Amino acid sequence: MDSEKYKKCASEQEEKFESICLRCGECCGALDDVCVNLVKTKTGNRWFCKEYNDRFKLQKTVSGKSFRCVSIREHILNDTLRPNCAYRAS
Ligand code: SF4
Ligand code: SF4
Repeated sequence: MDSEKYKKCASEQEEKFESICLRCGECCGALDDVCVNLVKTKTGNRWFCKEYNDRFKLQKTVSGKSFRCVSIREHILNDTLRPNCAYRAS
């Protein structure tokens, strides 16, 4: 596979993987001590990360606790997905 085809294929796979997320916000603490970067969409029924492209570093919750944001792949590998996470069924 040439480099352009590989990039296109990788980008499509990434998009497909990201589209599984329901944006419930549970993995970012929406049900308890939420990450300061998590904000609600205008309709108010979904969440998004305002630092998504720069998220993998130390972050804080609204109560001031520090934590390191990790990828969903890392949650899958470590079996730490939230009970209702859409990636459990995928
Ligand atoms: S930084 Fe990480 S934990 Fe915080 S809202 Fe973004 S994705 Fe969620
Ligand atoms: S818990 Fe799963 S479905 Fe919900 S926002 Fe996090 S990754 Fe997406």
